[in-house]
Order: sequence, then C-alpha cells, then structure tokens
Amino acid sequence: MTCPNCGNSENFLVKTLQMHLLRVTAGQMQPPQEEGRPALFEVLCDECDNTIDLDALDDATRRDLMVSLGVR
Ligand SMILES: [Zn+2]
Repeated sequence: MTCPNCGNSENFLVKTLQMHLLRVTAGQMQPPQEEGRPALFEVLCDECDNTIDLDALDDATRRDLMVSLGVR
C-alpha cells in the first residue's frame, strides 16, 4: 500500500466505524449482545492526509488490510 500523493508506504491513519447490533424488544432497547466488528471507513496517509482509494488497491493488499484490522 502506497500513498499515490507523496509515496509514503509506511504510516497510515485508519478510521473505522464500529457497528453494534441493537435489539428492541417490546419497545425496550436491549444493550448490544456482542461487539460488532469494525466496518472499514477510511484510510488516510499519515504524511500528507491524502485519502487512500481502497478500490484502487489490489485484492491481496485489501485483504491483508481487512484481516489486520479485523474488518469484515
Ligand atoms: Zn501521502
């Protein structure tokens, strides 16, 4: 994975979105039963704040990223 803007390939900021399953039973909100896995939100270059286009990554790199972050 390399930033196309500045060439950085070492430091990236990843914003993730945590998903929780909320159940409402008989009008009562139940606390989430399990921690959802984070849904990948955005990857930014830590050097220049350029947004990394995830669609432009090759499949192997994207898969490695998902696995290392525990993202579905
Ligand atoms: Zn960059």
